[in-house]
Amino acid sequence: MKRTQTMNFVDEVSKIPGGEGVKVCMQCGTCTASCPSAKLWEYTPSEIIAMVRANLRDEVLSSSSMWACLSCYSCTVRCPRDVEPTNLFHILESLAVKYGYKPRNTNMPVMYNCFVNSIKKNGRVSEFGIMLGYYMSTNPFTALGMMPVAWKLLSHGRMPISAKRIKGRRDLIKIVGKLNEIRGV
Ligand code: SF4
Repeated sequence: MKRTQTMNFVDEVSKIPGGEGVKVCMQCGTCTASCPSAKLWEYTPSEIIAMVRANLRDEVLSSSSMWACLSCYSCTVRCPRDVEPTNLFHILESLAVKYGYKPRNTNMPVMYNCFVNSIKKNGRVSEFGIMLGYYMSTNPFTALGMMPVAWKLLSHGRMPISAKRIKGRRDLIKIVGKLNEIRGV
């Protein structure tokens, strides 16, 4: 255990806005059948939900599964119980970060972190900034293989080196902070 928990994992997840539906999942497997990235999941979408319901906190939060979610919402529109699996998977990602779990075999948390930093800095996404941050935080040498593509994008003005800041960036940061406060993750 990463830390002592006073609440069952399933109760904790179900109390976070968007996670309420976890308790009514009937394990029909529609979410797994609908998921375009299910083959990449360590445990399938329906398995991860079953594991939350079984209070397998460490196994779930150290898994790479939810980090493979593409946010396409196919599972959410098809779930017969309105479980909202997509929201649930993003809650699990947030809890994994909150409690310091390092998911196996994926750098997606690093990518997400670079994405959020870009939003905080500019109020919008900077593809160049995200990729630079990602490769510097993981393996800078793998960036070498991307140089031809990067050069084409840069030379055609498709990937500016610096992003223009939006007006009201500080207000946007406050909104993001308030959302995190409401979700408690
Ligand atoms: Fe559970 Fe909904 Fe997935 Fe069926 S589609 S297994 S009810 S989350």
